[in-house]
Amino acid sequence: MRNARKCRVVMYPPHRLTFKPAGVSGNMLKEIALTVDEYEAIRLADYEELEHEEAAAKMNISRPTFTRLIKKARHNVAIFLIECRRLEINGGNFHFKSDLVRCQDCGAYFYQDIHNRTTKCRECGSENIISLAEELGHGDCCRENNE
Ligand SMILES: [Zn+2]
Ligand SMILES: [Zn+2]
Repeated sequence: MRNARKCRVVMYPPHRLTFKPAGVSGNMLKEIALTVDEYEAIRLADYEELEHEEAAAKMNISRPTFTRLIKKARHNVAIFLIECRRLEINGGNFHFKSDLVRCQDCGAYFYQDIHNRTTKCRECGSENIISLAEELGHGDCCRENNE
């Protein structure tokens, strides 16, 4: 039997992993990291505007844990804005529930079930697509976790 304490759940990967002030070369800027589970906390509480209770349930964590997570997440985003840093989304303790796929030819994004892997773009049929879950080093682990 696997670890009884189930992993944090993130619904799907972020569309983009790097954000920076316009007009400044990225490598001139100090980095600030936002973990994927911190990103998810902001998405649920501040974008979807869910109550912390509900957001915590979606992520499979307790409400106090969610409160600590969102506090850390907001602080990191504040550092990004105030100190004009380069924000990199990576790391964190979680698995994805669904995947987000980007077509490298037409730029379309589409969501897909983590178990049901697509090989072609739904918009243009190109096979030049990337799984953003896999880009973050996930995929197989999430499929296992969702079994
Ligand atoms: Zn396409
Ligand atoms: Zn995973």
